[in-house]
Amino acid sequence: MKTKIIDIRNLDEQSYSNSIQEAGLLLKTGEVIAFPTETVYGLGGIISSKETIDKIYFVKGRPADNPLIVHCSSPEQLFSLCKSVFPLLELLVRNFMPGPLTIVTKKSPKVADFITSGLDTIALRIPSKIVAIDLINEVGVPIAAPSANLSGKPSPTHAQHVMDDFNGKIPMILDDGDCDIGIESTVILVEENQITLLRPGIIEVSTIEHITNIPVTVSVELTESILSPGMKYRHYSPNAIVRLFYDKESYKEAIQENTLKSMLLIPENSSTSFENASNTFRYSEHNLYALFRLADEQHYSQILLFIDDSTAKKMGLMNRIKKAASK
Ligand code: AMP
Ligand code: MG
Repeated sequence: MKTKIIDIRNLDEQSYSNSIQEAGLLLKTGEVIAFPTETVYGLGGIISSKETIDKIYFVKGRPADNPLIVHCSSPEQLFSLCKSVFPLLELLVRNFMPGPLTIVTKKSPKVADFITSGLDTIALRIPSKIVAIDLINEVGVPIAAPSANLSGKPSPTHAQHVMDDFNGKIPMILDDGDCDIGIESTVILVEENQITLLRPGIIEVSTIEHITNIPVTVSVELTESILSPGMKYRHYSPNAIVRLFYDKESYKEAIQENTLKSMLLIPENSSTSFENASNTFRYSEHNLYALFRLADEQHYSQILLFIDDSTAKKMGLMNRIKKAASK
């Protein structure tokens, strides 16, 4: 199979709409294609076909017990997949969607079990990326989409990353350049009067608490594998060993003593000064995965990663960094 990449960035209105139609047609016939969202690229398929959903798992090499996020284009479409629509759910949808928040809630009985790996809950999100919304509207049904990477590889934040993992395995990639955010959505479990964090992201717990006036239970370390199947898998890891340093002196020492081919990663806005060699890069949520992929491509044996105080407070970023460091 030849993988067609369509760069949608500089198309006139007619060519853009033709491209959405072409991508929509593939989806309608049950194909799986890659498309951009504001978080990372997704590998999408229609939720109305079991064969399509099976294909997503097969192409990604994703474990069958790790359910997918279902992407909707409107609150009405999202609510139609929920068992009930209660005030807290409405409040969260109204305030955070479209955007990088995924809500896990009890599923409507009309949602097939193959979409949720047999769970009685469903993960739902409305992306803010226009092309994703246009695509869902074109198809007319929600699109289930995990990140468009091979299982265990860093999530793709650029169309080339998707190409690297799936060239010849999917018919189409819609290319909209770099993803704005660069890490996956914040995932929360929402019950009548209770919110539990399942996966940290750019939307911080404090923001959710501020809007809802409900304390968010943070369960990521304790009950992750029970509540959210995906959290137990080792994600986001480059081949290189990732070593973390919270203290500038020990970081500098490690660099001096180092004998391996090492990539040095420093927080984007860190005021601490470091020597700027060709193996030194500034990182943020936006480019972390791209840097991990670069480390693999260039066969670095080690990544020495410095964490300053303000980075240490970013839960989403720290979660991805720690996962990459734990082998
Ligand atoms: P991905 O789409 O690859 O970014 O992963 C989606 C994340 O949402 C994974 O961590 C899943 O385990 C989680 N998820 C999806 N559906 C559910 C659900 N019904 N209950 C809990 N977690 C879910
Ligand atoms: Mg993923």
